[in-house]
Amino acid sequence: MIKLNVVEIKKKLVGEKYFRFELEPKELNLTPDDLPIVGKIVVEGNLANGGDVLLLHAVIKACVARQCGRCLKEFQAATQAEILEKFYPADAHGIEKDAYTYEYDVVDITEALREGLLLVEPISALCKEDCRGLCPVCGIDRNLASCTCETDTIDPRLAALKQLLKN
Ligand SMILES: [Zn+2]
Ligand SMILES: [Zn+2]
Repeated sequence: MIKLNVVEIKKKLVGEKYFRFELEPKELNLTPDDLPIVGKIVVEGNLANGGDVLLLHAVIKACVARQCGRCLKEFQAATQAEILEKFYPADAHGIEKDAYTYEYDVVDITEALREGLLLVEPISALCKEDCRGLCPVCGIDRNLASCTCETDTIDPRLAALKQLLKN
């Protein structure tokens, strides 16, 4: 859990608190099933007094283990998310139900960081933009070799399956 004490910044009209953390995934409640992170997560940002709200601005960086959606190769890639969120006093009126809140001068930014990082995760990743994928007939990795198969009519997902069975 990443909590920031905001007593000082609330005292000043333009109060700001800078922070930088190096975190284990579990400190953001991230399991390998949520996101397979390699190494530490680096978070840098600030929390500012915005009058009746506190404004969080953070950049979060991590390295994620991915599998190419075309050739199934496993690789690691850097990911980065920018997070802009408002935190309201828990007793504030008229705030949305899913708004972030805080109590007693302590702001827990864990969930905001976690959500922000998960949101930028692509549904499918490619090892490289022009990955040529697997041959849907013989399953050969076309980045590494070529074949002479007729490939017009076969669903590329079958190729992935074929490759899996081969391994
Ligand atoms: Zn690939
Ligand atoms: Zn082939």
